[in-house]
Amino acid sequence: MSDASRLTFGGTPMNVDDALLRMLAAVHPLPAEQVALHAAVGRVSAQDISAPFDLPPFTNSAMDGFAIASSSAVLGGRTTLQVIGAITAGDATTALVRPGQAVRIMTGAPLPPGTDAVVRLEETDVHRDDSGALHVSFDRHVPAGLNVRLAGESISRGETIVRAGTAVGAPEVADLAAFGLTHVRVHRQPKVVILSTGNELVAPGTQRQTWQVFDTNTALLQVLIQQAGGVAEAVGIARDTPEEILSRLMHDPVPDLIITTGGVSVGDFDVVKDVLIREGTLEIWRVRMKPGRPVAFGRLRAAPVLGLPGNPHAAHITFLQFGRPLIRRLLGFANPRLPVMTAVVNEAIENAGGRRLFVPGNLSLHEQPARVTPLGQRSQRNRRQRMNCLIDVPEDVAFVEEGSAVVVQVLDEVMYPCG
Ligand code: AMP
Ligand code: MG
Repeated sequence: MSDASRLTFGGTPMNVDDALLRMLAAVHPLPAEQVALHAAVGRVSAQDISAPFDLPPFTNSAMDGFAIASSSAVLGGRTTLQVIGAITAGDATTALVRPGQAVRIMTGAPLPPGTDAVVRLEETDVHRDDSGALHVSFDRHVPAGLNVRLAGESISRGETIVRAGTAVGAPEVADLAAFGLTHVRVHRQPKVVILSTGNELVAPGTQRQTWQVFDTNTALLQVLIQQAGGVAEAVGIARDTPEEILSRLMHDPVPDLIITTGGVSVGDFDVVKDVLIREGTLEIWRVRMKPGRPVAFGRLRAAPVLGLPGNPHAAHITFLQFGRPLIRRLLGFANPRLPVMTAVVNEAIENAGGRRLFVPGNLSLHEQPARVTPLGQRSQRNRRQRMNCLIDVPEDVAFVEEGSAVVVQVLDEVMYPCG
């Protein structure tokens, strides 16, 4: 550790919430770009969009049946009307319908002029008279507007259909398409450079010596960044020298975010931290959490840099606490944090260290209240494969009793069949 860093950062590690707030304050939603509707899902609208016209655009039938003037219906008796034509969805409107007349109408067809109600086909009898003319009869009372969808009933012209700062999902895409739009302006996806550091690391797919370790974090972060909505660009493995780390991070063009793993531990070479101190700025170093105390945050040229611990499990948890929110903020999300809920914990949890503890959990949403099983005590394989949430144990809680309510952060894996 250099003397400068010892002076500035040798004190108490920062708490998780303060560290996250400081990191989030250092990034802003990226500029907008115009994308096709299907590509906008999961992104955040950069503009308010208002309805250019009424929806439905014209008054039309909600049912298959007969369009009539409600005033033609006999109150408390049988009504018989002459059928003068038929109209289906996609047809232009018919001639004026007069009292005593009806038009056969299909769902979605424009309501003919002179009519204001539709009697469902199931409620009518259709018959021909001796001259071959078609008649329809029914016994029901017909209020004006029966089975009719009025123009502008769903959305009226000028109404906001998508707000700036809100996520675009399937419903927004459907609304935009209903107004004939093909593209939408959303915040650009962050380009995130990822670098693994460590003399012991070799890339999967290459030859490993007995003392070497396959680089797990590049693959892990590629997935996590993609799940968060970013675009990952791996720049390989750097040996633990400031020169090699710096040369790999001097990536052009300057990315929107840099995430490194390894080289931030106390007693390690501290190389990532030293690179930030010497070549950029170091704003945060060490956070009071478990796993993952050695977290660094700073800047290199214009890029924010998040330095995560090398242990893959610690890298995973710290990415979810800091890397994911940074990416979500760059994407324009107003609330970039993981969603949280409460659940009943199936086993006791100990938190001896006085740090905020994140325990991998398996959340079962098939019962009410939801239950969560801590996976901390189990094997690495079991833990990582069944993890779909993180149990969030506060710093000052030393023991969580079995059966008590805990806060859990919900992960994307909740949507997979985790069992
Ligand atoms: P460090 O944070 O560099 O001190 O690394 C902590 C532990 O994680 C060491 O046992 C490293 O070998 C291991 N480690 C660091 N980076 C990686 C990686 N990319 N893939 C797998 N293991 C790693
Ligand atoms: Mg290392």
